[in-house]
Amino acid sequence: MTFRKPLAVASLALLVLAAVVVVRTLLFTPKPQPHLAKAELAVDSQRIASHLSEAIAFATVSYDDPAQIDRAPFQGFLAWLATTYPKVHANLKVEAINHYGRLFTWPGSDPSLAPILLSAHYDVVPVQQSSAGLWQQPPFSGLIKDGYIWGRGALDDKSAAVALMESLSDLVNAGFSPRRTLMVALNFDEEVGSEHGAKAIAAMLKARHIEPLWSLDEGSFVLDGVVSGVALPVASINVAEKGYLTIDVTAHGQGGHSSMPPHQTAVGILAQALVRLQNAPVPGGLDGLSAEMFDNLARYMPFDKRLLFANRWLFGALLNAELSKSATTNATLRTTTAPTMLSGSVKSNVLPVTAEAVINFRLHPRDNVDSVLRYVQKTIDDDRVSIAVRDGRNASSVSDSQGPGFLALAKASREVYGDVVVTPGLTVGATDSSYYDSAVQNAYRFNPMVLKKDELGMFHGINERITVANMAAATRFYSLLMKDAASH
Ligand SMILES: [Zn+2]
Repeated sequence: MTFRKPLAVASLALLVLAAVVVVRTLLFTPKPQPHLAKAELAVDSQRIASHLSEAIAFATVSYDDPAQIDRAPFQGFLAWLATTYPKVHANLKVEAINHYGRLFTWPGSDPSLAPILLSAHYDVVPVQQSSAGLWQQPPFSGLIKDGYIWGRGALDDKSAAVALMESLSDLVNAGFSPRRTLMVALNFDEEVGSEHGAKAIAAMLKARHIEPLWSLDEGSFVLDGVVSGVALPVASINVAEKGYLTIDVTAHGQGGHSSMPPHQTAVGILAQALVRLQNAPVPGGLDGLSAEMFDNLARYMPFDKRLLFANRWLFGALLNAELSKSATTNATLRTTTAPTMLSGSVKSNVLPVTAEAVINFRLHPRDNVDSVLRYVQKTIDDDRVSIAVRDGRNASSVSDSQGPGFLALAKASREVYGDVVVTPGLTVGATDSSYYDSAVQNAYRFNPMVLKKDELGMFHGINERITVANMAAATRFYSLLMKDAASH
C-alpha cells in the first residue's frame, strides 16, 4: 500500500493539471467585440483607380545619393495633385515642407481639441535595372488591368497618399466640417531617411506647440492568410517600431606572411566572435507588446495552438523556442542580430592585421543601444576584438492600444472589412512614424488595405500592384476615420 500512495497522488495531480490546461484553453476565446454594421459609404472606385494610376506614372524615385534624384517628376506629381484635388487645395491650408512635402491642415471648429495627423509618402524606391524585365507590366505605367493597378508605389505608399487625398476631396465635397483639426502630410523622402519630410514636420509641430492626439502613417496591413493559424484577416495596427544599431566589429591579429600563421589569424578571431553572437541571440520572448499581440491572435487559432498560448505559465519556454525558429515571429520577440559585411586581408598570402565585420541589429522596444552594446561586449568576451558604433536609434515608444486613436482605427477597420481580428503589432522596419513618435501623443502604423501572403514580396520588389477594390476600401476607411475622429 505504501508505495502506491505517491503514485496515486501523482496521477491525481497530473489529472488536475490536465483539467486546468484544458479549461483554460476552452475559456481562451476571442474577446467580445462591439457589434458594428458594415458602413454604407459609396466611393467611386474607377475614379480612385485612375487617380492612383496617374500618380504612379510620376517616377518620384528616391536615391541615397541626392545627386541622382530627378526632381522633375516630384514637381509633376505636385502639380497633378493641385489640379486633381482643387477643392482640397482651396479649402484647406496647404504648406510646402522643404519644397516637395505637403502638409494640409483642415482647422476644426473647436481649437481646444488636439489635432489628428494622417500621413503617407509619395516617393518610391528605384526599380533595379536587372529586375525591370521581370515586371509583367512596366513599373511606372500605372496600368489598370484585371482589377489591379500596376506599378512602383502601388503598395508602398502612393496608394495611401492617393486614398487620403480622395477622402479629403470626398469630405470637402460632402460639406463636412471637422470639430477637431485634421492634418494630412504627404512626404517625399521616406525611402531615404525622412530628414527633410517627416523630421521637418515633427520639428515644425514642436515649434508651434502643437501636439497631435495621435498620428497614423504606413505600417502593417489587413493581413489575409499571412498569420499562421488565424483564418480571419488580421488588422495589425502597429503601436511601436523597432530601432536599429549598426556596429563595426574589428578583430586584431598579427600581420605577416601566410606561410607561418599563428594559431588564429584576425579572421579566425573575428569568426569566433561572430559565431558567439549568432549562437546567443539577444534575449527576448513573449512579454509586453509581443505577449499582447499573440494573446489577441492565438484566441483565433486551432485548439492545439490555443492550448499553448492559453497556458503560457506552463508552456512559455516551449512557445518562446518555437516562435524563435521563424524569422518573422522571431523579429517580433527580440532584438535581431544580422552580420552583413565582412573584410579581411587584401591579399591571399598576407595575414590580416585586422578583420572587420558589420553587424546590423534591429532593436526591440525593451532594449536600447547601450544595453545591446553591453550584451555584445559580454557575449564576444575577447579583448582582441573592438567594437565601434556606426549608427543607431532606439526603438520608438509603445503607443496606447486602448486609447482613442487605436479605438478609432479598430472601429474603421471593422466598419470597412467586417469580421477581422484587430491587434496591436510591432513594425520591424523604419517608417516616418519614428519622427512623429516624439511629436504626437500616440503614433500608429497601419495601411487600411488587404495584403495577401504572395504580395509581401512586392514591397521594394517586382510586380508591385494593388487591387481596385483595395483602393476603394482604403478611401472608405480614411473617410470614416476622419469623420469619426474629427467629430469629437
Ligand atoms: Zn513606405
